[in-house]
Parts: sequence; structure tokens; C-alpha cells
Amino acid sequence: MAIRLKPVDVVLVGMGWTGSILAKELSAAGLRVVGLERGGWRETVPNFQSPAMHDELRYAVRHGLMQDTSRETLTFRNNVRQDALPMRQLGSFLLGDHVGGAGVHWNGQVFRFHPFDFQWRSHHVERYGADIIDPELTIQDWPVSYDELEPYFDRFEYLCGIGGKAGNLRGEIQPGGNPFEGWRSREFPNPPMKLAYGGKLFADAARAQGYAPFPVPSANLTRNYTNPEGLRMNACTYCGYCERFGCEHFAKASPQTSILPLAMQNENFELRTHAHVTRVNTAGVGGLATGVTYVDARGREYEQPAELVILCAFGIHNVRLLLLSGIGEPYDPRTGEGVVGRNYSYQTMSSVDIFYPPDTHINPFMGAGALGMVIDDFNGDNFDHSELGFIGGAYIAAYTTGARPIEHHAVPEDTPRWGAAWKQAVARYFNNNVGLTIHGSSMAHRANYLDLDPTYRDAYGQPLLRMTFDFPANDKRMSHYVTARAAEIAEAMGGEQVSVSEVDEHYSIVPYQSTHNTGGAIMGVDPASSAINRYLQSWAAHNVFVMGASAFPQNPGYNPTDTVGALTYWAAEAILNDYVKNPRPLVDA
Ligand SMILES: Cc1cc2nc3c(=O)[nH]c(=O)nc-3n(C[C@H](O)[C@H](O)[C@H](O)COP(=O)(O)OP(=O)(O)OC[C@H]3O[C@@H](n4cnc5c(N)ncnc54)[C@H](O)[C@@H]3O)c2cc1C
Ligand code: SF4
Repeated sequence: MAIRLKPVDVVLVGMGWTGSILAKELSAAGLRVVGLERGGWRETVPNFQSPAMHDELRYAVRHGLMQDTSRETLTFRNNVRQDALPMRQLGSFLLGDHVGGAGVHWNGQVFRFHPFDFQWRSHHVERYGADIIDPELTIQDWPVSYDELEPYFDRFEYLCGIGGKAGNLRGEIQPGGNPFEGWRSREFPNPPMKLAYGGKLFADAARAQGYAPFPVPSANLTRNYTNPEGLRMNACTYCGYCERFGCEHFAKASPQTSILPLAMQNENFELRTHAHVTRVNTAGVGGLATGVTYVDARGREYEQPAELVILCAFGIHNVRLLLLSGIGEPYDPRTGEGVVGRNYSYQTMSSVDIFYPPDTHINPFMGAGALGMVIDDFNGDNFDHSELGFIGGAYIAAYTTGARPIEHHAVPEDTPRWGAAWKQAVARYFNNNVGLTIHGSSMAHRANYLDLDPTYRDAYGQPLLRMTFDFPANDKRMSHYVTARAAEIAEAMGGEQVSVSEVDEHYSIVPYQSTHNTGGAIMGVDPASSAINRYLQSWAAHNVFVMGASAFPQNPGYNPTDTVGALTYWAAEAILNDYVKNPRPLVDA
């Protein structure tokens, strides 16, 4: 029997980026807010300090900061003809756990989506005609525009203290920035990161081929900075233990460094750690939410009543909680009907490596999560697709994120995969290698979706999430095309060998690709084809809001978190200025 707790105004499920922003915003407005986080408390001092934090085996290889798959995991299959099997270890993506979520161990590459990304279907139909879109792709326009979100992108970027160079200031193209980007109301709060040698070699070759390289916008702070909330961060030391690690220097924007301390100081906010939410409770089938049920570390079950339930648990966990709670119709790939689980998308990744003579010292061990140079020329619809047979694109970047001793072992493709010759090649090329990342879009496809697994259960006895996903043919064509462009740049970068790693024929959940899982509870204008409206409010229960990249109708080429942050501020404003004053559906169905 669950212990029933005192009702509150708002319960937040999950305390990563989205939960932390909402905790601060809603409690500052006077609402009584409880944040429930399944993991434990952690903060920069003492949890992220050296030398313990620079333990590659513990954190990068054994995923010490991430979801414990012995308690909760997901099952996976490429298509409905296969039996889905549980992931015993994290692989293709690294799900966050504990306070701060994946915002603690992210890289901090902070890109805005393009204006056309928000009108993805109508933009293509208008420019190329409807035939360019494979009928199996269930891509949709977003119900919100770039212009509407611009102030909220700006707010998230100033919160994080992003270092970068604007390419488009209020419609004026700026030298040194990205000429393809949407307009910005002002310059980045901080200057770009330093130029690593690998990035320079790439930028020089790309520029010589007529492209427009620019520095990756970075949440690794480029100088000491006090954000608009009054929180102070330090300059990055380029320590190279960034992606998959917490930052010991307060130099990587994260919930802990950028926003959460303010919520923690507010007596309207209460954080409960080791509180694993198992379902959203509703007043009968199709009724409003009445609160949530959670289980603490000792296995005791609690019911937390609340006027408003906001899911901030990360995209795929949000989808699972909706499915477990019966909020919204589950998607059925046979009929194409139902909305929860629909349009699950990912990212389409490939890479190109350039190997240099021994006297070309790249020094890749001096790096940071978002240190790099990038071109946008083959991203989105920045290039003419009329004769190409696909839509979408990818950015090409030379990142120097830190060559750590265990996992950094790029070798030319003709090298034996093990033994003395492999070891010699690893030593030979450790300091003489630059990698290019081709970071591509992922189109929603009718056959890719999320539902509940009929066989496997978690430590609480609940069905695991089942992921059914494979790369659509459209995305493989896109990836091959952009990878070939990256290889052309690589050939001009002055190395002695180039190795190309194309996207796999079928998606494998084993090798790491990116933690950019999107869709499953997408936003839209029609309850028949979307789970939430333009304010991230559930069509099925108007006092449930769903934050995070689960809202994306499909996934553009860029990394998601700038858009996740912008949407969180956008939804917070709608909740505070409109919803709590008059609780109702904010958009008519
Ligand atoms: C290695 C890595 C690198 C990345 N690099 C980048 C990058 O460079 N740029 C970029 O844009 N994005 C990047 N990302 C993605 C980025 O981290 C996420 O987009 C972002 O953190 C999502 O925020 P969120 O609040 O939606 O979810 P999260 O940060 O994952 O927070 C969700 C929280 O909810 C908790 N939770 C889950 N289920 C429950 C439950 N049932 N009950 C209670 N609590 C629950 C989790 O423990 C977690 O703390 C990266 C991710 C990883 C893992
Ligand atoms: S590279 Fe910079 S931001 Fe990243 S963990 Fe090291 S000091 Fe922090």
C-alpha cells in the first residue's frame, strides 16, 4: 500500500537539464514544487574532483555516472520480425542517472536548429515537390517556429555561457560564424574556444574548398563567467576528461553549475533523491493526472499528489512513463494510428580519420567536449537536394575532445585488429591522427517506434521499454553522400592516409553513437498524429507536460540540447503565464 503524501502544486519527474530549469522557474514563481530523481545527489565538490574523476575505466568504459542497467534497461530489435532483447550494458547511447542527469556528462556542443528544421515537411514540399519525401517517412512540421523560439534559445545559451561566434546577427551575416544559421538577437555570451591543431587543419582544407568553417558553440566555458542567474563558472582547462565525465572546475555548463543551486535555495522547492517514479496516476481512463507513484531506495512506495505533473525524465523514459500510465494512445506501426511511441528517431553518424607522418604533432589529449571546427554546408537543406534522392543532411566537424589512454586508438583501416602490429600502429598514430565526425539527421519512419516489451521487466516489475529502430534508406543515402564530401576534405588535409567509416547497413545498439534519442511523444497540431501540443502539454491529460527531445517530430543534423533547453523555457512561460491561472488545454484539439 503506497504512503500518501501531502499534495503539492507541481511534481517534476527527473532532475536533469529540463527538471532543473523548471524547478527554478516554477518555485521562483511561488508554486510548491517537488522534484523526484531516481538517482542520488551529486555536486562538483566533492563528487567530480580529481584525481578520482579522471578515471577513464570507471566513467568512460564502465559508465559510472550513468543508468544502472541491472535495475532498468530497454529491449531492442531492428524490426517487428525480430525478438527484442534486453541491453545488459549501455552502448549506442549513455542514459543519464542521478541529479543533473546526462547534463553532467555531456560534451556541451550547443547548436540551434535551423529555421527550416521547424517546417521540415512543408519546406521540402514547397522547394522540391511532395515526391522528394519517401512515403514511409512520417516527418511533420513542428507546431512552433524558429522565430518564436529565438528568445528562448538565447536564454538557454546565456544561462550556459556558450562560447562561439555568431554567423547571423539580426539578419546580417557575420564573418567567422556560420552563414547558414538562423538569425540571433545578439552575439554569444563568450568568445569561441581556442583553435586546436586538428581543427585548424580541417578548417584550412574546408575553406580552400569553398566551405565556411566556424568554431563549435561550446558549453565548456571559454572564460570566467557569471550567468544571468548570478551563478559563477570558471574557464575550461582543456583537461580532455569531459564527455562522459563531470567537470571538476565548474567549467562545463550543467544543471549543477548553471541553475540547480538557485532552486535548492528556494523553500518552495523540495528535491527527493532515490525516488524512482513508476507511473503517473490518473483519475480513471482518459482522466487528468492526480500525481505520481514512486519507490524509494528501501522499496517503500509513495503516492505524491500534485495539480500538475511534468515529465523531465529524458525522452525515452518520458515515453515509457506515458505508456505505463495509459496517457495517450500507443502507436501501432501496422495501422499507423496512435501517438505514444510514434516517430522515434536518432542520429545518423559516420566518421573519417586522417593519419599523419610522425612529425605532425596533433596533441589530441588536450581537448574539451565541444572543442572543434565545423561546417554546416551539408546540413539540413543548406544544399540542393533536387537530384540527390534523399532529404536531410549532416554537419562535418573536427573535434578534439580528449584522447584518453584506453579508448583513443585510431589506426588506419588496413591495420590488424589485434596483436603486436595493432599495438605498434596505436603507438605510431596516437599523436598523428585527426578524426572527422559526420553528424547526420534522422528521419521519422513508420516502422521505427517505442512500446512496452511484452516479456522483460525492470527491478520494480514493470515492462521495459522496447525500441524498434533501423536506419531508413533515406538516411543511409544522406550519410553516404555527406561522408564522401568529408572524405574529399580529409584528402586535402595533408595526411598520408585516410580511412572512412560509413554508417552501418543496419543500426546496432552496441557501439556508441550519440545520446540524441528523439521523438516518441512528439509535438504537433493534431492529436491524431502527436502526443503533445505546441506548449509540450499532453493532448490526453492537460495537467501533464512532457519536456525533452521526445517532443521532436524528427531529428535534425544538430545536437538536441539547445532546442531542449529553449523548449523548456518556452513551456515554463506558458505554464506560469497561462496554464496555472486557468488550467485547461492551451490549444484546442
Ligand atoms: C555522453 C553524452 C554526450 C552528450 N553531448 C551532447 C552535446 O554535446 N550536445 C547536446 O546538445 N547534447 C548532448 N548530449 C545529450 C544531452 O545530455 C541531453 O539532451 C540532455 O541532458 C537531456 O536533458 P533531460 O533533462 O531531457 O534528460 P536527462 O539529463 O537525462 O535527465 C533526466 C533525469 O531523469 C531521471 N529519471 C529518469 N527516469 C526516472 C524515473 N522514472 N523517476 C525519477 N527520475 C527519473 C534520470 O535519472 C535523469 O537524472 C549528450 C549526452 C551524453 C550522454
Ligand atoms: S574539458 Fe573543460 S569543461 Fe570539460 S571537464 Fe575539462 S575543464 Fe571541464
